[in-house]
Amino acid sequence: MKKGHKVSELGRQHMREGAKHRKPVSEKTREKLRYASAHQERWLRRGYLIGEKYCKLCDKIKPEIEFSKDKQNFDGLCGACRDCCKIYMKSYDSIPKNKKRRIEVDRKKYDIKKHIVFVHYSGNPPKCNCCGESIEKFLTVDHINNDGAEHRRKIKESKLNTDIYSWLIQNKFPDGFQILCYNCNLGRARSPNNICPHKQMLRE
Ligand SMILES: [Zn+2]
Ligand SMILES: [Zn+2]
Ligand SMILES: [Zn+2]
Repeated sequence: MKKGHKVSELGRQHMREGAKHRKPVSEKTREKLRYASAHQERWLRRGYLIGEKYCKLCDKIKPEIEFSKDKQNFDGLCGACRDCCKIYMKSYDSIPKNKKRRIEVDRKKYDIKKHIVFVHYSGNPPKCNCCGESIEKFLTVDHINNDGAEHRRKIKESKLNTDIYSWLIQNKFPDGFQILCYNCNLGRARSPNNICPHKQMLRE
């Protein structure tokens, strides 16, 4: 506090209350504080560590990968770790009204991501690359090199908790993908030479 800076009685009371609730700095944080700049130190004391983050709910310091993304937060990460979020979501979902609302919001977000991916790979409005189907509910992402199963497994193993649409956006729309309708997608997968029956018919 600056010299000559007056603090009201209410302010003093707030500071006293804050001190009561503040958690003691752990041994691990103390070690980091030794090398931190003044700016970093302020955040470190509040529990924001470099490459790591403090979870208020389970009272543990965990690596940043253990926290899901949250753009509204100043550091871009959720305030609670993934494990704590899961527990929280379970209790939130135990009320049917909440669950219904959450599913609705999730679906809306998912549809927006899907639309962004579709527009990127097939133009606006999106359509099937084979038959021209333009109803978005019928469309999906097709792996041109037919390594879809392997790709999905890799996304799952990475534990980033993302779906294929988020993955494509995060990886800046890599090559090797096209938009097909489910019919053409399945038709291509089921035919021995991986050509949609639509196109096979034209060849014969
Ligand atoms: Zn936690
Ligand atoms: Zn199609
Ligand atoms: Zn087709």
